[in-house]
Amino acid sequence: MTQMRPLIAGNWKMHGLESSLDEARAVAGALDGRPAAARVALCPPATLIRRMADQLESTGVEVGGQDCRAELSGAFTGDVSAEMLADAGAGLVILGHSERRAGYGESDSLVAAKCDAALRAGLEPIVCVGETLADREGGRTLAIITGQVRGSLSAGLAGKAFAVAYEPVWAIGTGLTPTLEQIEAAHVAIRGVLVEMYGDHGARVPILYGGSVKPANAAEILSIADVGGALVGGASLKAADFLAIIAAA
Ligand code: PEP
Repeated sequence: MTQMRPLIAGNWKMHGLESSLDEARAVAGALDGRPAAARVALCPPATLIRRMADQLESTGVEVGGQDCRAELSGAFTGDVSAEMLADAGAGLVILGHSERRAGYGESDSLVAAKCDAALRAGLEPIVCVGETLADREGGRTLAIITGQVRGSLSAGLAGKAFAVAYEPVWAIGTGLTPTLEQIEAAHVAIRGVLVEMYGDHGARVPILYGGSVKPANAAEILSIADVGGALVGGASLKAADFLAIIAAA
């Protein structure tokens, strides 16, 4: 498989006010336009996308959204469309995060519809899959994540830029991580489905790992075969931590 630059994407979740843009500027300033070994992106709350995109323009640090509505527009109070994210300056969007699947009942088919919405708006989707602790303890991890990949990725993604993020639900925000062997097994299983679905293109789609990635464990996680980057929550909020993860890529 062709080795591509890993993608290190920060998910700020519902954290961040205007003053938090200092952290984003510090990340860009430290990278200083150097061709980093990694592609770097930050996904702030929707309210900060425009300002972050303006401030990071030409720095090489990309900006993304955290979710989008599948519809183009309409009477959906409080929601944001893919076109709105793109209009605000986003180039990527996280879809199917477990906090959306669990908290808002998002199904695989809804996530697939959101993929199509993202593509229509020219956004690069990062589609999240991952098992719960009960799934893992019940020996269902690979069945769950391969099922989520099959159901959450749309046919329209063929030939388009997108990434999959393997994020075990029990590892998100907990400080727990799977063993390196467990991460590798999950990525191998996801790769198999991607190749089944998209052929040669599926062999090149980056598969990120997410779930308690920190400066202390980033290097070993990123060195696992077929880990094509990281989706980072808590540790992306502080420039120093996020930079240390980028440096490990
Ligand atoms: C996430 O929310 O996508 C995530 C990986 O969070 P954390 O790094 O905080 O576990």
